[in-house]
Amino acid sequence: MTGELITKVISAKPGKTVAVFAGIHGNEKAGVMALEKVLKTFQLDAGTAYFVIANPEAVKLNVRFIEKNLNRLFFTSNDGQTTEDERARELMKVLDECDALLDLHGYNGEEDSPFIITDGEGLELASKLDFGYIITGINKAGDGATDCYMTEQKKPGLCLECGSNFHPEKYAALAEKSIYQFLKFYGLVESAPGFDSREQKLFKTGEIAIRQSETFAFDREYQNFDELKSGAVFATDGENKYTAKENEYIIFPRPNQKIGQESFMLVSRINS
Ligand SMILES: [Zn+2]
Repeated sequence: MTGELITKVISAKPGKTVAVFAGIHGNEKAGVMALEKVLKTFQLDAGTAYFVIANPEAVKLNVRFIEKNLNRLFFTSNDGQTTEDERARELMKVLDECDALLDLHGYNGEEDSPFIITDGEGLELASKLDFGYIITGINKAGDGATDCYMTEQKKPGLCLECGSNFHPEKYAALAEKSIYQFLKFYGLVESAPGFDSREQKLFKTGEIAIRQSETFAFDREYQNFDELKSGAVFATDGENKYTAKENEYIIFPRPNQKIGQESFMLVSRINS
């Protein structure tokens, strides 16, 4: 299996097969920088590793996507016609060979709160990485993401939100360290930075809001993991008002989306 910007590295020693993706969203550069650096320096001690620049055209143009959000296209019945649909089908073939996936992303905010989205088999590794926040349970809510595709097959898939897209050079080191820890966890490299044991806040996915009208607005500016005030209206979308419940936090607040795209996601804390 080869395709544009898919690097396959095979060790003489048998072992697991894993994939590292970066640039699923072309404007999220920390992972791309980290992956390019790892490819220049690393030594595979066992198994097979795929390193993938997932949406090269979007990376080149520094845009989230060209026609469709690639991270909503990973589902087996995908028969779409865009370049991104084709790329998703090609990358699903790679994932079908893999035991685990690390998918590197970033977020559009200034806050310093890198987080992981994963589920099931991915949680054990997530607990060993240097991230303060973990979100689970997205599989039921948002089909078509790479981590959901893996989770559906009972395989670990971790989406790492490595930090602010506005400062990729600041967060490339975290992405790079995580790649090595991922490869070490699955036995593909012998040396890697030690696993981390920092305190982590665990959240469960709730609603994903799809923009319905021309007039969407939040009541104020939000950042990832801002806690919403219970009982208060925090967003309006045309006639529709969004009222917060107890223990609700906002993720991916995007006030300027097109109709039909995701304006925000809600999560709730499940550990204290
Ligand atoms: Zn992303």
